[in-house]
Amino acid sequence: MRLRAVGQLALLKGCSHPLTRVSYARRTLHAKATEFLQNNQPDWTESMHEVREAISKICSKYPDEYWLEKDNKHEFPQDLHRDMANDGWLGICMPQEYGGSELGISEATVMMQTISESGAGMAGASSVHMNIFGLEPVVKFGTTAQKERMLAPLIQGKEKPCFGVTEPNTGLDTLKLQSSARNMGDHYILNGSKIWTSTAQVANKILILVRTTPLDQVTKPTHGLSLFYTDLDRTAVKVTEIPKLGRSAVDSNVIFFENWKVPKEDLIGEEGNGFKIIMHGMNAERILVGGEALGLGYAALRRACIYAQERSVFGRPIGKNQGIQHPLADSWMKLEAARLMLYQAARMYDQGHSTGEYANAGKFLAAEAAFEACERAVLTHGGMGYAKEYHVERYLREAMLPRIAPISRELIYNYIGERVLGLAKSY
Ligand SMILES: Cc1cc2nc3c(=O)[nH]c(=O)nc-3n(C[C@H](O)[C@H](O)[C@H](O)COP(=O)(O)OP(=O)(O)OC[C@H]3O[C@@H](n4cnc5c(N)ncnc54)[C@H](O)[C@@H]3O)c2cc1C
Repeated sequence: MRLRAVGQLALLKGCSHPLTRVSYARRTLHAKATEFLQNNQPDWTESMHEVREAISKICSKYPDEYWLEKDNKHEFPQDLHRDMANDGWLGICMPQEYGGSELGISEATVMMQTISESGAGMAGASSVHMNIFGLEPVVKFGTTAQKERMLAPLIQGKEKPCFGVTEPNTGLDTLKLQSSARNMGDHYILNGSKIWTSTAQVANKILILVRTTPLDQVTKPTHGLSLFYTDLDRTAVKVTEIPKLGRSAVDSNVIFFENWKVPKEDLIGEEGNGFKIIMHGMNAERILVGGEALGLGYAALRRACIYAQERSVFGRPIGKNQGIQHPLADSWMKLEAARLMLYQAARMYDQGHSTGEYANAGKFLAAEAAFEACERAVLTHGGMGYAKEYHVERYLREAMLPRIAPISRELIYNYIGERVLGLAKSY
């Protein structure tokens, strides 16, 4: 039986589907790092295990060689995206009435970790990332008509969204962004630019934040920004790909738009309230990216351990040398520590707590642990770590990304310093 994610858990409750027969008795505290997609975390709920197993099954169709080819050819992984849509996974966090499964961020993080951990890395995760929680502003602030029009095609994989917040001149200082929208009654006219807009080469929709009231005319800088979810109209929007370090299967772009006519019906929430609306899903997004980083770190560790057992130099496997073994053991501990914090953040989010400190810290720790694991995986492979055929060089290139986006390490330090420790603001 092929289960769709939609209603999957309800269906599994009380039935004898093989996915329900996961034996907790046999589940030890950890699996060997050489195992493919270990699935025995005793701290995960049954629904998290079910997600893990179903996503592993899909991802097992796409081995590392597939991702190497996509990376080399700079090709979007349409097949994985289609499989995820066909089995209902693009709506994992979306309301059931529009075709979603209404599962939590905990399950969605398992999903993103599993995609990445399969060897798909940030490329595989990024190909569906925007679908998972990107349209939360529409779920929370959209009208019924908007939800009907916008959510169902996204969940079915018929429409692909991209996300335009970062701007060339203002970067992380989002409140100073310069792109504008002029209210013309039944429509708005947008002018400006965005940078790093991922998937804009293949997307046909964009969630975009622009200023509708100039900064010098608002009482607070958080006011006067507005959010639109609209067609990426290529007659008014010029999309240019940025050559970049890694994650080459998924494009990132500079976009310029001039006199772009956007219907009033595509404004999400109230005019001027866009910043508050977009902030709503930020913590969830950080948790998801943390999960993607973790997956990459575990994938690298797995490859490093396999190589350390197989490669013999000086008449013995290199993994016998503690200079090889200890850094890998250290990486396992750091990845596990990050995992515990990240899933704690996810649990808190799902229970309705505000999770800023845990979401930020979890993403930070996962990204750092993953980067270190990827670097060590390359070093464990010696010269072959530099060769594409062992895949760990691709992992290392991709492991830079969660350290930078969606929020940088420095801004997370600022957040913890100011909000948790009560220290002075640096800007
Ligand atoms: C591959 C990729 C994909 C991306 N996809 C998207 C996307 O789809 N949509 C989108 O909108 N954005 C996207 N981004 C943008 C990403 O979110 C930003 O790059 C990131 O938030 C950092 O912003 P910036 O590049 O403008 O850095 P800047 O704001 O220019 O900052 C540069 C450096 O200065 C540091 N810094 C700045 N201010 C302070 C301060 N007050 N204290 C301490 N340090 C500071 C920063 O931490 C950073 O290290 C993507 C980025 C990449 C690399």
